[in-house]
Amino acid sequence: MEQLSTSHMELTVFQNWCNRFRKLFYQLIAITALLHVFPFVCMLHAQQLFVAPRITIYPTNKVTDYAVVMKPLVIANNSRRLFALRKFTIVDKRFYLAVDIETLRTEIVPFNSTFENNKEYTNTIMPAEKHVSPYFAALEFCNRPPYRLHNHGIRGFSKNCKGAVLTMDLCPSPYLLDRSPFHFVSSIFPKKEYPIPIAIAVSGKWLANHLDDIHWLISLQKNKIFDITWINHSFTHPREYRENPKILSKGFLLTKGIDVEAEINKTEIAMIEAGITPSVFVRFPGLVADEKIIKKVCELGLIPIGSNAWLAKGEKVRNGSIILIHANGREKKGVQILHTVLSKKKQLISQGKWSLFDIHDCILKEFSQ
Ligand SMILES: [Zn+2]
Repeated sequence: MEQLSTSHMELTVFQNWCNRFRKLFYQLIAITALLHVFPFVCMLHAQQLFVAPRITIYPTNKVTDYAVVMKPLVIANNSRRLFALRKFTIVDKRFYLAVDIETLRTEIVPFNSTFENNKEYTNTIMPAEKHVSPYFAALEFCNRPPYRLHNHGIRGFSKNCKGAVLTMDLCPSPYLLDRSPFHFVSSIFPKKEYPIPIAIAVSGKWLANHLDDIHWLISLQKNKIFDITWINHSFTHPREYRENPKILSKGFLLTKGIDVEAEINKTEIAMIEAGITPSVFVRFPGLVADEKIIKKVCELGLIPIGSNAWLAKGEKVRNGSIILIHANGREKKGVQILHTVLSKKKQLISQGKWSLFDIHDCILKEFSQ
């Protein structure tokens, strides 16, 4: 009996050890599986297969009562010439989106009762000051024939300019922001060139789906690594459509039923709610627009920005170019070409003989009297 009890105890101890080994074995399998899955998840992330979550963004900055206005904001000491383009409300506070007509830079100006006496412009009123400021000169240059269906507006600058303007488009995309051009541009330019001027043409749909990315871009701006000009790239960014590959008559903003003013205003609202200030520039999706659309955006006070160096299309970077790449993860080719182009110019860049220029400054040079 005693012997049986002893062997029973031995059996129980043996079973306990077996259970422990079994648990340990399963844990090892689980850890091994995780170790195998983790790099795969990282790889998926690196390949940007994860789509940024759809989030209703920035509720605290909710913009209401957004409206187009066109009127000068005369400041008490008359030191600056601001021109209001829009007015809006954020939580009971009223603001203007205004442009300094001497510098083309925009700002959000809190409401001031003295502004209300200033008369609004209409299409029929052409005050004298419209003709003597770089902003209105550039606007009127773009609002005259020939109205090009493709690439209308400012496409480049003087060849005497020792550098170029870099623009990146953020058309709607399921992919995360391609951060590589920001990394290599900031690594190629010496710190004394910071903040590096770039212009980002952002679509409202991209903004609505890339909360982390927009915060990251704003952090680049705040840390004075890049000085970003935010260009309006429409809200929905209608797709390209051609019945005939050689004829541009449909698609993009030419798509039937597109309300251009709503596309512009909704994108501006999304920008303001995201904490960024819209500029006076617009880039047409696909660079495509007709006379009616061009006149409409000019009437809204926006200057169309084209490009003469769309890198993925094989166009070359020259002095005075407006370079176009896509940083929305859909056009790796352009990003790679930019990397190659800037790498070849590395020595000139380090010697200060080739730079990236601010688009405002380039337009000012062209349109100052
Ligand atoms: Zn686009």
